[in-house]
Amino acid sequence: TSPIPWLSLSKEEKKKFISSLDSVVSDCDGVLWLGSKVIPGATEVMNGFKTLGKSIFLLTNNSTKSNEELSRKSAGLGFNTTEDESIGTARLTALYLKSIDFKKKAYVIAGVAVENELKSVGIECIGVGPDVFQVRQHCEAIELMSQQNGIEEGVGAVVVGYDLHFSYPKLQKACTYLADPECILIATNTDERFPLPGRVFAPGCGAFVAAVAVATGRKPLVMGKPSPFAIDLVLRAKGLNPEKSMMIGDRCDTDIAFGNSANMKTLLVLTGVTDLEMLKRFENDNKTDLLPTYYVPSIADLVDDMNE
Ligand code: PLP
Ligand code: CA
Repeated sequence: TSPIPWLSLSKEEKKKFISSLDSVVSDCDGVLWLGSKVIPGATEVMNGFKTLGKSIFLLTNNSTKSNEELSRKSAGLGFNTTEDESIGTARLTALYLKSIDFKKKAYVIAGVAVENELKSVGIECIGVGPDVFQVRQHCEAIELMSQQNGIEEGVGAVVVGYDLHFSYPKLQKACTYLADPECILIATNTDERFPLPGRVFAPGCGAFVAAVAVATGRKPLVMGKPSPFAIDLVLRAKGLNPEKSMMIGDRCDTDIAFGNSANMKTLLVLTGVTDLEMLKRFENDNKTDLLPTYYVPSIADLVDDMNE
């Protein structure tokens, strides 16, 4: 069925729908904030859901913050949320590795948040930060490869997140570890970009993951939305009843796909990646798994619905 414009609902219909919900899970960037700027109205709506007695969760594919850092950011912007209610892919990766009783070292192409979350479940990490081997010439890169410079023993996983220090030597090391079929490849998320105000294009973690996947022919195990692992963690660990939960997101292919495959109600906001034209295209192409239950220009359009 076609996505319904939220603003076409009557006051009673909106009220009835909101009162049917026990929990609201929201994406962060593109829904609640853009970079470091809160989207006006977002705090009123999320805090409003909480005041109405619903449990709320912030679920981001961003791997650059630990859950604690995420909750500090959201609290600083005015969201009434705790660390338990903030979930990022650095923590999801740690929880996954813990769940498979992972005991080896992880080669981490990502930032310190991934390192810290992995360390907190007892996993030794190597590789975070700029690679010491600075390649300036092709022959140096070939040398690095043939000498396996800096390749350590005991690495059982390559974890790829968002890494400002991504480089050819890191790619070489990741691929060398992954030549061992026992070494697993984990991606925190596969977003190809993330929204920024203005016209600057911000490539996402998916671009780094693609480099490793193409070079090795490996298919990564993805932690973030819309992966089954994220669904499992958020629904079961947080004890949500999907039928009484709503996922709010700005991307059909991550957030809405996540909510739909979890059997949640879904609300697309148009303040981030997916615009109305893209939504219509998904609808025309009959991509039902990507279609939200409702869509609305901004989460701010729900402010009035919090009052009754
Ligand atoms: N990855 C990175 C590195 C980001 O900075 C962001 C947003 O800021 C995202 C992913 C997307 O996050 P979200 O799932 O909250 O939209
Ligand atoms: Ca988003």
